[in-house]
Amino acid sequence: MRSYTSLIRHEGNQELFFFTELSVIGLKAGMPIHVHVEGLRGTGKTTILRAASSFLPQSVRIKDCRFNCDPVKPHCPQHILLSKEQLDAVETEQVKIPFLEISHAAKIGTVVGTLDLKQLTNKKEPEAALLPGTLPQAHRGIVLVDEINRLADTAPELTDIMLDAMGTKPGRVQIEENGLPTVSLPLQISVWATSNPDEDPGSLADIRRQLSDRFDFTVQMGRPKEVRTLLAILSPELELAAIQKTVVEADILLGQHLAEMAEQVGRIKIPSGILESLAEVYIKHHFESLRSLEALKTGAVLAAARRNRQQVTWDDVLSVAPAALRHRISPDELTVILQELQREKRVTENPAWAAGSSALPEKASQSTRKSGQSKRSLSWWSRFMAWWNSLLGSRRDNRQQGTASTKDTDIQSKSARRKLGPSTKRSNPLDMPLVTPPAVARPLLELDISDAITVGEVDNDHKK
Ligand SMILES: [Zn+2]
Repeated sequence: MRSYTSLIRHEGNQELFFFTELSVIGLKAGMPIHVHVEGLRGTGKTTILRAASSFLPQSVRIKDCRFNCDPVKPHCPQHILLSKEQLDAVETEQVKIPFLEISHAAKIGTVVGTLDLKQLTNKKEPEAALLPGTLPQAHRGIVLVDEINRLADTAPELTDIMLDAMGTKPGRVQIEENGLPTVSLPLQISVWATSNPDEDPGSLADIRRQLSDRFDFTVQMGRPKEVRTLLAILSPELELAAIQKTVVEADILLGQHLAEMAEQVGRIKIPSGILESLAEVYIKHHFESLRSLEALKTGAVLAAARRNRQQVTWDDVLSVAPAALRHRISPDELTVILQELQREKRVTENPAWAAGSSALPEKASQSTRKSGQSKRSLSWWSRFMAWWNSLLGSRRDNRQQGTASTKDTDIQSKSARRKLGPSTKRSNPLDMPLVTPPAVARPLLELDISDAITVGEVDNDHKK
């Protein structure tokens, strides 16, 4: 298997690398997240996820426990009833975080658990015992489901089991066998899944929306777009490096690094302004599921940990927002929400922005990876918007005999409005997404306002 750190990162797969690492931090910090990767065949989704098994950090468990019991908080039928003294005396071991796979053709018995025939036919000590399946064995670890859309299509019973396992945190798994009491176990797992929505049987959201919503994040996988990326992927040196010791060491180092970041997670603070804005977005856009909000919050905390930050910033929120929302709302709505979040970020970072500017047309997917660039262009944009507002303001002044100023133009984001006091109820075209007119460019002053501003779909490809 290819080592994780030897895989080439490019614009099409970097989101998956990011969420794979967030997921491992989350698991170590006791905040597991479920990640679904959608993309065409041959884009390397499963390769990246499987390669992650090479950097998984260690965890401590009760020695030889097949349910991967935490010595501090045992949960399996064998260890849950141990007294504190017995637990103190129990032997422990360091093992890699479990990484197990469920195929779309798996059987319920192998996923959930079954009667342990070996134990039952033991001549010295025959006993009816349970053999845990993939899910209970993966407790405190990762379960990979390749082609989850096919599983959802052909195995509704297994899908129900996955719904239970992912429904709450921790989830649950129930093992039932004739002649044995039913065992229900808590399940702390991260589910990683892949699917190709363009192939039969279609997208997971269409087959089983409920299961699609159980995923905190949906990552979109793309192909490499640059020749040099492809050359790097095809490079024979890389093939060699992949099996070299240094690369394996790099994987181990990454695992240790992520485990250290996980220890910081409990100390990371989220500014109340960010939480408030996210709650407002939730209400304003009528999100169907509260999971979206929880995913945004958890993802932002993990992203802050990944960047060694003590406090969540808008950059952290924006880096997880597309994946937290894209499987829950329409692409148009996603664009609008990302623009609103960008606006909140700018208001927070530069309060002067709130006083003199407004909605910023921004290619949604550019998000914050280019925040430095955004800051650089901000002063230019601020000047432009100040001029634009003064233009609108003076028109309004004429209409309202000089009572209006730029401060009550109702064009600021909500948090800005809070800061600036009550605003008027007029709707303002500047609250709408701006798009470049498709016609040949003309000086702004020559344009009618309806030529410059349209309401409706934002064509990202036309904006730079
Ligand atoms: Zn145990």
